[in-house]
Amino acid sequence: MKTVLITGASRGIGAAIAKKLNKSYNLILTYKENKEKALNLLEDLRKENPNVIAVKCDVKNEDEINSLFDLSEKNFSHVDILINNAGISYFGLIQDMTLSDWNEILRTNLSSIFLTSKRAIPNMVSQKSGVIINISSIWGSLGASFEVAYSASKGGVNSFTKALSKELLPSNIRVNAIAPGIVDTDMTKFDLSKDDKKSLKEDLIEKRFAKSEEIANLVEFLISDKGSYITGSIFDINGGFY
Ligand code: NAP
Repeated sequence: MKTVLITGASRGIGAAIAKKLNKSYNLILTYKENKEKALNLLEDLRKENPNVIAVKCDVKNEDEINSLFDLSEKNFSHVDILINNAGISYFGLIQDMTLSDWNEILRTNLSSIFLTSKRAIPNMVSQKSGVIINISSIWGSLGASFEVAYSASKGGVNSFTKALSKELLPSNIRVNAIAPGIVDTDMTKFDLSKDDKKSLKEDLIEKRFAKSEEIANLVEFLISDKGSYITGSIFDINGGFY
């Protein structure tokens, strides 16, 4: 069975991906703050799949990422599929942001995928196979007001994905990104007013935001052999937002 590492799997999209892939893969889930949620999820998943572990790891921290991979390799030999999902948002005017706010967003959303990929790639190269999925955002290409840092970080994720896919072509490693529109998770609970949410939904398919499971469906497809010819792509999944 192949081994999948999912960052930020304690809740939201990461947790939905873990549920979708359970039974078919060995799973490594990471969390940062929400240990209880992660351990509850782990308990549920283990009812059907004994090959799941949960590890506390701040994706900004290189030492913690190295320890995460050491532990993963101890349990499952190597990571075949890396899903860079952990992320944070920041809603506010650029002039009110501090450099430390800016760095926090860039380090969590962009530098983290450099650190995890750097650690995962050598084993993938020696296997001559591997898949990396980066969870980007619609704002990475469109840009959103009040979310300049977030948009910049996700624009970086898109370029990182395209460039890395080229670098890893000779080793048969596929690298793709998924750019969701608005997904119903904790991340979108607080930033938008009730009225904003209502008017945004008017223009979307079924007049609703995406469910995390719908993002997980695309991940499941892309990491499987059905996605064997797909690399270097950014997949929009936004219910017709554009
Ligand atoms: P969420 O519900 O807020 O969950 C975020 C996850 O990331 C949690 O598991 C959290 O762990 C983890 N995380 C945050 N900072 C971390 C860090 N420094 N180190 C390790 N883990 C960290 O968010 P979500 O909506 O599921 O978003 C998941 C991904 O999708 C993000 O990359 C986000 O940018 C992207 N996305 C979301 C939407 C949306 O509308 N929701 C749209 C487009 C793209 P703990 O809970 O343990 O702290």
